[in-house]
Amino acid sequence: MIVHPVPRVTVMVESISHTYQKKNTNRRNVTVEIEVSLKRPSEYRYRIQCECGLRKKLKGILEELASGKRRFWICDREVVRKWAGDFYWEDDEVIEWEALEELKNLHSIETLARELLRRGADRSSLLIAVGGGVTGDVVGFLASVYMRGIPFVQIPTTLVAQVDSSIGGKTGVDLPEGKNLIGTFYQPLWVAIDPEFLITLPDHILAQGMAEVIKTAWISDADLVKFLEEQSQAIKSRKLSCLEEIVSRCAQIKARIVMADEMEGGLRRVLNLGHTFGHAIEKVSNYSIPHGDAVAIGCVCAAQLSVLLGKITDDISAKMVSLFSGYDLPVKIPKLLRPEDILEAFGSDKKKTDQEFTFVLPLDPGCFELYATKNLALVEKAILLSY
Ligand code: NAD
Ligand code: ZN
Repeated sequence: MIVHPVPRVTVMVESISHTYQKKNTNRRNVTVEIEVSLKRPSEYRYRIQCECGLRKKLKGILEELASGKRRFWICDREVVRKWAGDFYWEDDEVIEWEALEELKNLHSIETLARELLRRGADRSSLLIAVGGGVTGDVVGFLASVYMRGIPFVQIPTTLVAQVDSSIGGKTGVDLPEGKNLIGTFYQPLWVAIDPEFLITLPDHILAQGMAEVIKTAWISDADLVKFLEEQSQAIKSRKLSCLEEIVSRCAQIKARIVMADEMEGGLRRVLNLGHTFGHAIEKVSNYSIPHGDAVAIGCVCAAQLSVLLGKITDDISAKMVSLFSGYDLPVKIPKLLRPEDILEAFGSDKKKTDQEFTFVLPLDPGCFELYATKNLALVEKAILLSY
């Protein structure tokens, strides 16, 4: 029997102020470094670095981190259009691609792999992913299988990618049957987060990321929830010090959780707050409701369930509703979606009487509880109260 040791976790955070800045200062040059250390069976360490303007320092850092390696950048075309020439340099190979969810598939993996081969990438090369979650997932997966695995660096440029998808080592592509059905766990060499990239992000895409930020804050950081309540205007107007604060805090929270649970054994489930309801809502809407919107509605349904179970008061649930609303996220299930379809979408099989479902219940900000149940009666009630 192989016994996998519990991952040894080192979190190293440098020069971050833990008191939130309320004044209108554009705080610069703050670097947050999180050292991720996994033991599985051999130890693996890498850094997640968050700093405004980091893209301008990539050259020096990459030369040190991966000296002698030929660099192959795979960049979201939209990011190149907005930030051209700001992060890669002349001798490097740059492949631009159209980063669309519809192209997050095995065909793109083959196309990109063949392009890498054509340009001479080999086992000693370095892949660098620049873009949102779609690019990170595709390039991460490609790196994990190209010539049986080559090192890669993540440079996430959307809020979702900076606080969620670039951290944790999950990679993957979609199949016609469903999302992320083919994938690997593959850790990057480095994650370089520059919150300045968020300046050019369209408002509705920033809002999608805010749903994950609020979810992450609610499960573990009451101070951050307060900060999000107070700073919604500053965050929406892309005040850099605020963006840096929320991105670095959420990246740390996610890193801590995944370090403790690299392969999704248990703890990672807390990140699913709002996702059990949210996935069902997305599915019933035939994916016309974007993921972040569904997560916001899903968190509100979960809060309603917490109220029904007597875990929180109506005031706390109302607090959550106004937090999501403050970031222009929906907080009610659209009337077009039928409650019975949502319940059905949980995958509930009425013939299987002992089937158990687990929900993450939000408690007061910073706290959560898991609720496992075989009886969906209260869940149904929470759904009905969320229209
Ligand atoms: P995305 O990569 O499609 O980016 C959204 C849009 O923003 C795209 O049109 C892109 O071109 C554009 N964009 C990217 N950076 C920009 C910038 N700086 N300025 C202007 N426009 C920019 O989507 P996303 O929301 O970042 O990520 C969603 C994907 O992430 C999904 O495929 C999801 O499955 C995946 N995901 C993965 C994980 C994981 O753990 N691996 C976690 C969460 C989500
Ligand atoms: Zn999500």
